[in-house]
Amino acid sequence: MFLAGKRALVTGSTSGIGLAIARSLSAEGAQIVLNGFGDEAEIAALCDEMNASHVGADLTTRAGCEELMERAGPVDILVNNAGMQHVSPVQDFPPEKWDAIIALNLTSAFHTTRLAVPHMKEQGWGRVICTASAHSLVASPFKSAYVAAKHGIAGFVKTIALELAQSGVTANCISPGYVWTPLVENQIPDTMKARGMTREQVINDVLLAGQPTKRFSQPEEIGALALFLCREEAQNITGSNYSIDGGWTAQ
Ligand code: NAD
Repeated sequence: MFLAGKRALVTGSTSGIGLAIARSLSAEGAQIVLNGFGDEAEIAALCDEMNASHVGADLTTRAGCEELMERAGPVDILVNNAGMQHVSPVQDFPPEKWDAIIALNLTSAFHTTRLAVPHMKEQGWGRVICTASAHSLVASPFKSAYVAAKHGIAGFVKTIALELAQSGVTANCISPGYVWTPLVENQIPDTMKARGMTREQVINDVLLAGQPTKRFSQPEEIGALALFLCREEAQNITGSNYSIDGGWTAQ
């Protein structure tokens, strides 16, 4: 239980990758603060399962981010994971979707990090982990806001890693390729429409086309890497961007 006594906030942790990260940190004794939306009874069950608390703040707004950090209290591990997607050609991309994606996938990480870092620096230990994406390294058509936000978060993490380099606080990105979660499943209909394809064609010819292993990652595999980055052995890993993408960005 190497995380006993540590407090970890995982944004967007009521589902998918964030939930798997929260579970892996909880299994090593971290006190978890969950964030994200969903069915009240299901969230209560998650809190019971992990002996966690939950703050359902909307991270597309600065006020929501500030509310989250105030209610979470000082955290030793911050996982910036909440994210959303929208698939559309740039000329039809709804400006309000652009604003929401940049706000959630990029700007919320700035707000949570700026508010979490003082406590981490003061105690000389901390971990900031951001769930970026293969789209922090390469692009795909019809995902302009998402790719812009994910390239942005990769740069943000490098910057804060340098700022915190001698403080005992590390900052890293994890960049998954396609992981089987609701975020991926929900973009299938729009991709079918944007590309005029069937569901099977979208899965095989679009989603897994660039993933040489031809398999989706499982959320637990992302949780395992996040857990490793919290270990003492990872203290000199900072400013890195770890791909878990079945070889996608090796091409
Ligand atoms: P998901 O849709 O399963 O989960 C998203 C989580 O974010 C949920 O808990 C949801 O309630 C929360 N959320 C949504 N809007 C929010 C808001 N305004 N404020 C606070 N929380 C909000 O998605 P996922 O696939 O688990 O994605 C998690 C992260 O992983 C995202 O940053 C995503 O970009 C990234 N990612 C996912 C994949 C993939 O293939 N699934 C690949 C690469 C990167």
